[in-house]
Amino acid sequence: MWHLVINLLFLVLGLIFGSFFNVVIYRLPKKDLSIFKPERSFCPNCKAQIKWIDNIPIFSYLFLGGKCRYCKEKISLRYPLVEGITGISFLLNSIFFPIEQAIFLCLLSSGLIITSFIDLDNYLIPDSGIILIAAGSFGWSTIRGNFPFNLLDALIILAIFSLFFFIANKFKKDSFGFGDVELFSCLALGISLIGTLFAVLIASLAGIVYYLIISRKNGSKNKLLPFGPFISLGGYIVFFVLDVINNFYRIS
Ligand SMILES: [Zn+2]
Repeated sequence: MWHLVINLLFLVLGLIFGSFFNVVIYRLPKKDLSIFKPERSFCPNCKAQIKWIDNIPIFSYLFLGGKCRYCKEKISLRYPLVEGITGISFLLNSIFFPIEQAIFLCLLSSGLIITSFIDLDNYLIPDSGIILIAAGSFGWSTIRGNFPFNLLDALIILAIFSLFFFIANKFKKDSFGFGDVELFSCLALGISLIGTLFAVLIASLAGIVYYLIISRKNGSKNKLLPFGPFISLGGYIVFFVLDVINNFYRIS
């Protein structure tokens, strides 16, 4: 019973944070907007202030039929999507991990979500996302007793991927951003060397599948593919299966 209450609490917190992340994702890359000013959210189309009743995660979107109350412009499906993903990831963190680990994983998933969507829109990995991911990864593995080896793993990954970054960009400019190097290094703080290799594998496979199925269908073959969302997905999955991976390599 107590567990269920905690799980529900994480879900609701995730939905609320997700709603805030929509603001962060929209405003952070824009030079003329600050995250805290204006305090109230506004419609990107008619600039009308959004009332609190129209700002309840997911429910308001459904209640308004996906349209702005004032100008009836369609609200992007992105908003309930970010809220839903954040809510579900917070819920999963609290189901599969003890509460103190779950809290650090929520920092991690927050950073991954903000970073992924900003990368999708702007082809850029934001520093504040990287800081959240680093803090979540480092905290999570440190309370699991992996300090200082988690730091060492991250430094090794940073060295290897920096080298790869310089070589890759010598052959093809902008093929691999330094933000991706930072992202992998921060994940290595949590999931160690072997886990990071698995994250690379999942991210690459997901990227290829996406490219083949969706990108081709839309005829946008030459469009640059942001790698951040795939790295985030791969890394996040590995946090959940890291013990399985470690046990496998310990036995064999
Ligand atoms: Zn409007």
